[in-house]
Amino acid sequence: MSISQKAALPLIDKAKKETIAVFPGYREMINSVDVHLVSNTNSLKRRNEIAGMIGAAELNEPPCAHAETLIGKKKNAVVVYYQTIANETDFYHFLVHEFGHVISICANKAIYESVQNDIRNNVETERRAGSSIWSECVAEYIALDINRQEPAQITWAATDEMQHYLDLSVGNDHFDPYSLAFFLAMYYNDPTIESYLSRYPGAAIGLDKYDDDLLELMKDVINVIGEQFCKEKYWIIDEETLNKLGVCCENFWNYCELHSFSRKLSELVNYNDM
Ligand SMILES: [Zn+2]
Repeated sequence: MSISQKAALPLIDKAKKETIAVFPGYREMINSVDVHLVSNTNSLKRRNEIAGMIGAAELNEPPCAHAETLIGKKKNAVVVYYQTIANETDFYHFLVHEFGHVISICANKAIYESVQNDIRNNVETERRAGSSIWSECVAEYIALDINRQEPAQITWAATDEMQHYLDLSVGNDHFDPYSLAFFLAMYYNDPTIESYLSRYPGAAIGLDKYDDDLLELMKDVINVIGEQFCKEKYWIIDEETLNKLGVCCENFWNYCELHSFSRKLSELVNYNDM
């Protein structure tokens, strides 16, 4: 089952209005974003036509996300692959998440461009590593701000989701900053998790099965992100904070590599014991 165009269209206006209500300073920016609903047939061709029209980068492979933000030289656009989305609630959430990208990218244009340059030139920098957490985390945090809901009565669904993100981010001996970003956005801005943590302040969602080293790494990243989200204009980040996040990311990468190495080593030792 996927959402129909007819059901999706009115949600675009609604999402724009509610985004502007929370971020009035970005009214013109949000109003000028073109939202394109792209079907599954020829999605890459259609996506690249839109990118070409606004002066954004083209892709060689079909996009794997439900939606994406295109930052163009002339305009910005959001492309929603609506046939990959199950229902109106998800559609709306993905859309405001993309508006979150538009706001955070445009508010940090100089940093965004330096990171894009690092990616193009294939250089590893702290700001590039930091941005691998930051860009998704802030977009999702903004989406949760816009789509503010009452805390749910049942917390296990939300805590399960967070554990799932954490398992994806470090559980497979490699580090996935994308999943960690969603974990962090929920940690700080999901109403259900917020009310759960206010009742059980020591609760470590999903962390109890990991070791102390991982807890230390998490504490570092939680502190940096937490300080940033305390700022009034939390979506505007400075390069120093982004670099600090980058160092946290690099520590996660090292942790996962070390784990993968020691697991392989112990497998080898066990093998030799047999
Ligand atoms: Zn995103």
